[in-house]
Amino acid sequence: MTTSEQDVDRFVKAGELVPLLCSVAELTGDRTLLADEFRPKLNLEMIAIPEFGGLSAEVANEAFERVRNALKRHFGTGRDHRQTDLSAEEIVGFLTNGADDYAELMKHELGDTDHLPWNKDEVAVDRDFVVGIVGAGQSGLAMARALRRLGIDFVMFEAADKVGGTWRWNAYPGCRLDTSTLAYSYSFFQRRDWRHYFAVRETLEDYFKDFAEQEQLLESIRFNSKVVRASWNENDSQWELVVKDAITGEKSTVLVRALISAVGFLNQPKIPAFNGLEKYRGEKIHSAEWHSGVEYRGKRVSIIGTGASAYQIAPAIVDEVESLTIFQRSAPWMLPAPLYHAEVGQDREWLMENIPAYHRWLRLWEVWHSTIGKYALTKADPHWSSNESVSEPNQRFRDALVESVRGQYVGHEDLLDAVIPRYPVGVKRMLRDNGAWARTLQRPQTALVTQAIDSFDEDGIRTVGGERHPADLTVFATGFHGTNFLGTIDVRGRGGLSLREYWGDESRAHKGVTIPGFPNLFCLAGPNTGLVAIGSQTFMAECGIHYITECLHHLLVTGASAIEPTQDAYDRYVKWIEEGNRGMAWAAVPEVSWYRNESGTNTVVWPYPLLTYYELTRSVDEDEMVVSYPATHEPSV
Ligand code: NAP
Repeated sequence: MTTSEQDVDRFVKAGELVPLLCSVAELTGDRTLLADEFRPKLNLEMIAIPEFGGLSAEVANEAFERVRNALKRHFGTGRDHRQTDLSAEEIVGFLTNGADDYAELMKHELGDTDHLPWNKDEVAVDRDFVVGIVGAGQSGLAMARALRRLGIDFVMFEAADKVGGTWRWNAYPGCRLDTSTLAYSYSFFQRRDWRHYFAVRETLEDYFKDFAEQEQLLESIRFNSKVVRASWNENDSQWELVVKDAITGEKSTVLVRALISAVGFLNQPKIPAFNGLEKYRGEKIHSAEWHSGVEYRGKRVSIIGTGASAYQIAPAIVDEVESLTIFQRSAPWMLPAPLYHAEVGQDREWLMENIPAYHRWLRLWEVWHSTIGKYALTKADPHWSSNESVSEPNQRFRDALVESVRGQYVGHEDLLDAVIPRYPVGVKRMLRDNGAWARTLQRPQTALVTQAIDSFDEDGIRTVGGERHPADLTVFATGFHGTNFLGTIDVRGRGGLSLREYWGDESRAHKGVTIPGFPNLFCLAGPNTGLVAIGSQTFMAECGIHYITECLHHLLVTGASAIEPTQDAYDRYVKWIEEGNRGMAWAAVPEVSWYRNESGTNTVVWPYPLLTYYELTRSVDEDEMVVSYPATHEPSV
């Protein structure tokens, strides 16, 4: 190793203190790096992640010095001279500052507990038992990996021609993550070579492709195959799937013992029924249907919406269009994220490459602060009375964000009234802010229109005030039918019961996964598993996957043919979810958002801490489930 002492100084400066302490302690066995005074001090109501994990500058300097010295010793001798054997538990305890109740969850996130949940030989894997997975995106691929490791046969159906799910479909300019790349990646497939703190879509497509290849999943995926109907066959306890070839339109039938929906809830683009839309002669495109032929360069472009998609598209195209008119119904809240578009610097790359576990501890650190997240800041205080906020901490959160917004509009104060949301922070998903949105709105070719849209005519959009806004291209960044879970499949359960009819306008699932009357149907990214103020969807998917494997285990070990929740358990669960949601900003305020169905009920968001979902999905509670056996069955357990 030819790393000089000066190099070490430089590299350490580029690192984050807490992950450095953890990873260098693991590398060298130097327990003094985990001294009590270096323990991070996060608080539950943190608006921003405090620098140095909340340590004072003085203590942080001392900690950095200790890291530097430990590394210099390590690289100086070029040999392993670990002083002690430190366990991962000990380091996790340091990172979480002794939050023991989170120890197991955090070990899972470290990627350390990726063992098979049961002994393969214990289950009748030779039984005629094939699982169908619909969707080869983030959750479907991870599900397939779990089944492969458990020796359970499966077939996957993917409507597109490749893997990647949402990252395959959403090909609009500027598409990238708006949660941290590391925390979004699987706990069991971690990478150290991410180029961006917030990965671009192409990188994510590659990540999922690499994953599918590494796990040898590709040969089990039927591409260009849309599952359009799924019917439970009572007699032989199987799901009969009607699969439509996306190219030829031909339909075929496939039988599976269990059906896993991994289609996500953002797969049905929504274009509002604007008056006169059919008259419009310009090009129109929904953000999720963008393709390389969309002509925006040198054109007059209108974008409807200011949500997660619009705020990525507008900055990406603003410098190439003749004019950009953005139609805003309500302004988004944005969390400051200066590194939103930044690439990972070389010095940090060195840390990733040369300190073997730096990336893992950095990921865990990000997971940990997103686990605390903005939960306490978005919890509604029933005694708080304000239209602007839902509690005193929420008001402080608001004030901090408003101050950050004001700083971006110096000289453009006329825009402030429009860009500061009127609703409390947390009512809708927060976006990431590195100033790109403000810069876009301040460009001379951009107009922000806050008057409601009245109608379309041949040339463009007319607002209710009568203003006309001609456009060659209109982009509908108007979101998805997010509450219409499994809306692309006609699902029929016991006795031909239609899932759509069973649910009506209120999609729900026990633990976000199972539904009474729909045996062996399991949802990933199911009802009330979406996150607003905490965590990453990957975490929720991994929890759901674990729970599904527990259900399948139950079937395979007992020789049962079907499992589903009792109606009573389902009803109690829904009530509990409702209670939780009522206490959070996104449901406490009657503001329109895609989390709510037509009647205003929030069927999308998970209202409790991440730990609660983790614990809930560890095992099957037999009292809450109905298990059925084939007529010929003799109980084996
Ligand atoms: P969205 O957040 O639902 O935003 C839709 C936008 O269209 C909102 O500004 C909405 O206004 C507006 N809109 C809807 N109907 C309208 C109408 N009739 N007239 C005028 N404006 C209308 O949709 P999205 O931006 O596609 O994002 C959806 C979700 O996808 C996100 O919340 C996120 O979970 C996910 N997403 C993630 C990423 C990422 O990670 N990078 C990127 C894109 C999307 P209101 O706000 O007033 O309703």
